[in-house]
Order: sequence, then C-alpha cells, then structure tokens
Amino acid sequence: MDKSTAQLKIQKLSKELHEHNYSYYVLSQPTITDYQFDVMLQELIKLEEQFPELIDENSPTKRVGGAITKEFDTVIHNHRMLSLSNSYSRQDLIDFEKRIQKLIEEEVEYVCELKYDGVAIGLRYLDGKLVQAVTRGDGTRGDDVTNNVKTIRSIPLELKGDYPKEFEIRGEIFLPLKAFEKLNKEKESAGETLMANPRNTASGTLKMQSSKVVAKRGLDCYLYYLLGENLSEKTHLGNLKKAAEWGFKVPLESERMIEKTNSIRGILDFIAFWNERRRELPFEVDGIVIKVNSYQKQELLGFTSKSPRWAIAYKFETEQAVTVLNSVSYQVGRTGAVTPVANLEPVSLLGTVVKRASLHNKDQIEKLDLHIGDEVFVEKGGEIIPKVVGVNVASRPSYAKPIGYITHCPECASALVRKEGEANHYCLNENGCSPQITGKIQHYISRKAMDIDGLGGETVEQFYKAGLIKDIADLYSLDPLKMLSLERMADKSVNNILKGVKDSLKIPFEQVLFAIGIRFVGSTVAKTLARNFKNIDNLKTATLEELIEVDEIGVKIAESVQEFFKDDKNIEVISRLKAAGVQFAVKESDEDIGVEKILTGKSIVVSGVFQKFTREELKKTIERLGGKNAGSISKKTSFIIAGEKMGPSKLQKAEKMGVKLISEEEFIQMIS
Ligand SMILES: [Zn+2]
Repeated sequence: MDKSTAQLKIQKLSKELHEHNYSYYVLSQPTITDYQFDVMLQELIKLEEQFPELIDENSPTKRVGGAITKEFDTVIHNHRMLSLSNSYSRQDLIDFEKRIQKLIEEEVEYVCELKYDGVAIGLRYLDGKLVQAVTRGDGTRGDDVTNNVKTIRSIPLELKGDYPKEFEIRGEIFLPLKAFEKLNKEKESAGETLMANPRNTASGTLKMQSSKVVAKRGLDCYLYYLLGENLSEKTHLGNLKKAAEWGFKVPLESERMIEKTNSIRGILDFIAFWNERRRELPFEVDGIVIKVNSYQKQELLGFTSKSPRWAIAYKFETEQAVTVLNSVSYQVGRTGAVTPVANLEPVSLLGTVVKRASLHNKDQIEKLDLHIGDEVFVEKGGEIIPKVVGVNVASRPSYAKPIGYITHCPECASALVRKEGEANHYCLNENGCSPQITGKIQHYISRKAMDIDGLGGETVEQFYKAGLIKDIADLYSLDPLKMLSLERMADKSVNNILKGVKDSLKIPFEQVLFAIGIRFVGSTVAKTLARNFKNIDNLKTATLEELIEVDEIGVKIAESVQEFFKDDKNIEVISRLKAAGVQFAVKESDEDIGVEKILTGKSIVVSGVFQKFTREELKKTIERLGGKNAGSISKKTSFIIAGEKMGPSKLQKAEKMGVKLISEEEFIQMIS
C-alpha cells in the first residue's frame, strides 16, 4: 500500500471508529459487534505501525493506552476551577434562592443536576480536537492528565457538528460501581489490599503513570459545564444540549438527570426524587447541584473568593453518625497486611449498632489527624464495614492523645515493614505469626481453592490453638483421636473433615496452585501458570524471563512466584503435600490419553487472525500436544504460527531473530 492510500484508509477507519465508539459509550446503542469493532481497530493499529508518520494525536488507537507519564505537568487554568459551596439542609437552599432573588429582581431559571462523586476535570478542545485535560488541583493550577483521559471511551477525541473553534468543557470522571467491584474482586483473589471507594479509586487511577492500566480500569465521564468566548447559546442547559450534539456524554433530561425549574419547590422536588432513587444509579452521587441557567445572570452574580455565587451543591444526608473513638486495634491478614480498626463508643447507624470502623492505613489516620478520645463521624458507604470519615476537632478534649501507629506486629511482635508503593504496613513473619498461619489455612480450604467440606474457619483456629495443625500440610496427617478430644467434635464432624481432606487430593493442579497462596496469584493467574508450566517443579525452576514470556504474566507476579520458591518453609510444605498425594502436575484429561506430545519442548508464538481456528483454540491445541505458548518472540521461540494481519513489528522481529514462520495450513499438516 502506498502512503496516500494508507492515509485515506487511516482517515476512513478513524472516522468510523470514533463514530462507533460514540454509539457504544455515549449513546449505549452499538451498531456493530465488539468483534467487528476490534477487527477495524486492529487494522488501524497495523496501518499506524506501517506508517508511524501518519498517526494522529487523537487516533482511536489512543483509547487502548500505551503512553507513560512519568511526571504530570502543572497547568494554570484559563478560568479558575472552583468548587461549589456546600449545603446540607433545605433551609440552606431556601436562603440561596432568596439571596439570588434579592440581587436579580426578575424571574430566575435554575438547572438541577446530579453531583457525581468523582474527580473534576477540565477538557480543552481546539478545532474539534481534545488538546488538554487538566484536574482541578488547587483551583488555579492542576495536573495535565491528557494521555490518561484519552483512554476514557465516553470522552470524544474528535467532535462533530458546529462546535466553536476553541472552548473548555468541565465534568466529572468517575468509576462506575460495576468496574469498582470488578477491580476489588481481582484484588481480593490476588491477596492485595482492597480499594476504599470508587471516588478514591478514580482519582488514583487518573494519576497512574501507565495509560494502559488506566484504559483497563473502565473510567467514565459526564460533562456538565461549558466555558468559552464564542458559545452560541446563552444558557447553561442550552449549551449542554449543544455539547451533546458535538459528541459529549451529558446528563439527559429524558432520564431526569438534569432538569430546569423556576422555583424552590421544583428544586426541592428534584432533590426528593433523587434522594429516593440515587441507589439505583450505576455510579455514586453524593448530592445535587443547582445552577442559575442564564450565563448573563451568572456573570452578574459573579464569585466569592472560594466559589461561584450562581451555584450551590446540596449534599445528601449521609448515613452518618457521631461517636467517640475509644481505641485503635490492628488486624493482621493472611498476607501479613496490617489494618487499623477504630473501636468506637457503640452508636446506632441505619438500624445497626456500630462498634468498629475501618481506618484503612497509617496515611488515612494521619490525614484525619485522629486522636484517641476524639468525636468522630462514621459513615456506611457501599462497604460492609463502616468507616471513619472525619473528626470534630473543635470538640477535642484536652486529654485526647494522637495515635502513635504501631511499629511491631500486634500478634508476633516482628517489626513491621512498609513496602515501596504500598499504603499498608506488613508483618513479614509469615510462618510464625498466627493470623497469617490460620489465614493461609483458611484460604487453602476455601471453596475456590481446595474446597474442603466440613472444615470451617473457626475449626481451623480451634485446631491451630490445640496444636493439631501448624500449616496446610498438617491437614493431611490429622489424628482423629486428637480431633475427638476437642470441644464440639463428634464422630460425624471428624469423619466429614477427614473425607473432605481426602477428596481434596482430586483437586486439579491449577486450583492447588491458587490454594497454596502465592501472592498476586489469583485463580485466573494460577490457571495460566498451570497450563504453561505443567507441574510445580517446572514452575519452581522457571527463570524470571521464562515467567514473563507467558501471556498475562507481568513482572510483579513473576517476582512473587520466585520469591515464594526461595522460602525453605514453602518448599518443605510442598514436599509434604506431594507426599500426601496432592496434585502438583496437570493431569492429562481422558481425551489426551494416547495423544502424542509432538510439540514437547517447543516454544510457540501465535500471531494474527486465522481461518479455521480461533487464537484460543490454537493455543489449547499447542498445550495439548505438549508445546508451550509464549507471549513474545525471543531467541527461544521454535516457530511462529502466523495468521493474517500479523503486526509488521512482529514480522521484523521474527526476521531479525531468524525465527521460522508457518501458516495455519502448515501447522495443521504438522500435527495431523
Ligand atoms: Zn506478625
């Protein structure tokens, strides 16, 4: 393809992809399948690889991320980006409306909208292209997060229609509840600390260095205010409707996410409506925003030093209670992570009595400037455990003492360590710290792991205290007589436990690998590792490079795997588990019996699009025949199965390293 043809093709694909992106993420009305979308995107990626000089700053390929921001530049806002003044009662709103009526004698129109619980963002567009995205910062200057914002699919990179040459649009970037839950599930199964709430996660995500990771998190954005010299509309709502025509995701009147009214009654009605329904929204809102609709009247009203006079935020009554902090205790989890917990004077909150609340970590305690004896505000968010959200410093008693964060483990007295880049402190005494030991056993027997029926968390603790088990391998040498001598243990329960333990010998290797609790190895990663390395000894001797070469295995996981096998205690436990008969190798399934492992010892890369197989099917076939799937081409690669649309950079690399390419047909011949 010559350059000018490529240019036309790139333009056409980009335009179509922007349009489909809009249909999917802004309108929620896709007109093509995900697969079709992906094929077009791959084609564009390929063309851009061939002709890098033709890549547009706002190409749809920017959505998948890739750019790394080492340090975020500070940018001065063209217009100050102030936060709104808050109100907590109807009376505040009535006063707000009266104040405005006094200054403006004619009738005033108000626009009510939702207050999204996320991170405020200002987006600058020039000639219909997104040129800069800046956080609020201190209101005068914020951080340039453009690369990361480009990965947010509901934010248009290119506009359509009759947009002004230059303008700024502001909105809120947030993490939808589903995306938040998904992220925490992944973190949980990998034994990582959970994120506190969607808002903190959104702001943390926006400031991540790798835009690729940002792209995967699934941030979303509603736009809610337009600024510029040449806006065609004279009202706030009018401008937002225009913005929708240009491709922005704005709150919809049809869903009552935004509403015009000319009375305090209308405002209060809107608040009452959303106070009832807000939990039905797929994202978090913490209140309602009321703005004067006319831009001219907004100008007339102007600003105080801190916020505009023409708008106010009404915060929903939070499910909050006030109580006293009596003490702080510390919990140690199975990974050794220490979590501070507030012990409170019991207080009623939403029908339950709250005595304990989460404090997350040391930073959080310092941020709140918590003292023992303080009056604190406790809230129930989406989480089960309530949290301390604020301190009434004004009422601090003279005897209140600041919290000196512990330096040693409350369970085993080892010195705590804070690892780089982590918010939590850790007790590293893995094999001598009781909650870590019982936590590991509890993880081992859990459903997704070894699924040992009849043995619950409490029994594990009982057995541990009685000296019956000290690690997971001890489960396989439990003495029935000693078990019977314990409280609440009868023949039946003992038999159940022994049977459960025996049944666990049938659990396949991939689940065993998850059960032994290697950090960052959740159930999905365990499957990938099991499939690629076949047995525990291969995994144990794998080099860092070999681990990383596997699809979906990053440096963090690879290092953690190596760390695990460096520990003598782990090696010892595994050898005892092996002796007990636990599965430490992939079992050939029935269909594999008699299959000749003709690809044993071969490292194979699959690349491109195929006619007869999907990529997944090809990879499975390779594994079934004893081969190994590698994620990238290296000197060790035996050959590449090349389909259509294999990337030119991969082709080049293969050529350079002298790695053989074979077609799908040739591969079928090879294995038949
Ligand atoms: Zn400890």
